Amino acid sequence: MSEPREVTAADDPRLLQIQGRLAAVRGRIAAAAEAAGRQDNPPKLIVVTKFHPADDVRRLAALGVTDVGENRDQEASEKASALGELGLRWHFVGQLQSNKAKSVVRYAHAIHSVDRPQLAAALARSVAAEQDRTGRGPLECFIQVSLDEDAGSHRGGASRLEVPGLADQLAGSPGIVLAGLMAVAPLGSDPEAAFAKLAEISAHLLRDHPSASGISAGMSQDLESAVRAGATHLRIGSDILGSRPALR
Ligand SMILES: *Cc1c(COP(=O)(O)O)cnc(C)c1O
Repeated sequence: MSEPREVTAADDPRLLQIQGRLAAVRGRIAAAAEAAGRQDNPPKLIVVTKFHPADDVRRLAALGVTDVGENRDQEASEKASALGELGLRWHFVGQLQSNKAKSVVRYAHAIHSVDRPQLAAALARSVAAEQDRTGRGPLECFIQVSLDEDAGSHRGGASRLEVPGLADQLAGSPGIVLAGLMAVAPLGSDPEAAFAKLAEISAHLLRDHPSASGISAGMSQDLESAVRAGATHLRIGSDILGSRPALR
């Protein structure tokens, strides 16, 4: 009879794979932070788990991940309720319809994609009701800004001229903390230039809202550029969990 032995990563090849990929991404982040002189102030890693099963989220938690991101309410709410005992912070990073606000505030710690007044108002109402019901903490909100000159390749977000109004609205909503800005680098353009523009918009925002210093930027392909430009939150999916269906 064989000796009983400890369960190791070798028993779960997927865990081993995620562990390796996560270590590689953490290494890239550490190197980028050091190159930018930010080793004492590195960005937070949010692992984007969309399209990947709840079991992968369990594996990430076992590997020390504390923050995960999702972009569809139905998928996110199912995973968050199945994994409640893990104590993860859930970040909503996708386009959000106002009629989903009531659902998202049940599980989300932060929304990275606030891009219009109606959505901000719906989130404010919903989080206030949820706080009365459950005593949940404040909802962190990032304003998603479009860095696109060309409307044809638009990937969502408010224009920079809309930022001050949205910021005032969010900052004035009890139950909401204005966390800062979020952006996705436009497809086919230089992420350095895009994130430099985001940093400039952030500097403007800080004049009126000095605590809204969050910059959510940087995905698998462009995290180094984002760290150089001062990103505080990185949203990394495919380089950790592998590829997913291209469009949905
Ligand atoms: C999917 C997604 C990410 C992660 O992108 P990867 O290229 O897989 O790292 C980041 N941000 C948003 C808004 C996303 O939808």
